[in-house]
Amino acid sequence: MENLKEAMYYEKQPDGSTKCVLCPHNCMISPGRTGICGVRKNIGGVLYSLIYEKVSSIAFDPIEKKPLYKFHPGTFILSAGSVGCNFRCPFCQNYSIARAEPEKVETSAITSGQLVSKALSLMEQGNIGIAYTYNEPTIWYEYVYETARLAKEKGLVNVLVTNGFINPEPLENLLPYIDAMNIDLKGYSEGFYRDVVKGRLESVKNTIRLAAGKCHVEVTTLVIPGLNDSPEEMEEMAKWLASVSPDIPLHLSRFFPRYMMQDRPMTPIKTLSELENIASRYLNNVYMGNV
Ligand code: SF4
Repeated sequence: MENLKEAMYYEKQPDGSTKCVLCPHNCMISPGRTGICGVRKNIGGVLYSLIYEKVSSIAFDPIEKKPLYKFHPGTFILSAGSVGCNFRCPFCQNYSIARAEPEKVETSAITSGQLVSKALSLMEQGNIGIAYTYNEPTIWYEYVYETARLAKEKGLVNVLVTNGFINPEPLENLLPYIDAMNIDLKGYSEGFYRDVVKGRLESVKNTIRLAAGKCHVEVTTLVIPGLNDSPEEMEEMAKWLASVSPDIPLHLSRFFPRYMMQDRPMTPIKTLSELENIASRYLNNVYMGNV
């Protein structure tokens, strides 16, 4: 059982199954099976992370690429990701790692200490810390938690780029070590979250609310023609975000056909621009991305 780490946040059941309570899916997992994310497995009645210390992607990126526009602008951040996701977005941009089985993706074994050392060695080149990104970092919880604690001790910042689908208890346990988050708000209807990405809007809103009280938060919405691009939906979303804080930056990014969603065109610039105008009535910092 190479490189397995017992999971945090699960409950053993009398019949040998395990209930994972890391994210709101709260998967009940029988022996030999994994949860919806595909990276947490019940082996003999114990739940393990299959991606602990497994890094699929690593890069040194401008902080604006996360995107974070109001958090140490002009700096760089060491960015790392692993494998798996707890959503099922048909438009996923990183599906080769997010939708793959852990054993089918080439990964490097990198300990928390090694990643932190690498981040420290890049400080002279403008590095401020570590971003956990590329796949969904909250399901990489054990590694992110350990690494973030160590990084913080060494004076580095930690950034999560996340879909926000995590239960409140593990989130609150991690937040003291997290300095900034970019959280996807993929749409503003429960129907979109339920039918398209297989998540729940209310849980993501809860994450944004909790995180915004504890660290720097920016929000990203991928605007998909015909799915989440109505002016009414944008108005409701912007109003709600403003009720958390009108200073939360909102990034509206452009959809391009990819992965399993090839049936619609890229987002017209005109649509993005109209939605930017609507959101700007309520929010102080709205940006159009990748246009
Ligand atoms: S983290 Fe994975 S196993 Fe745990 S509840 Fe979420 S989808 Fe299920």
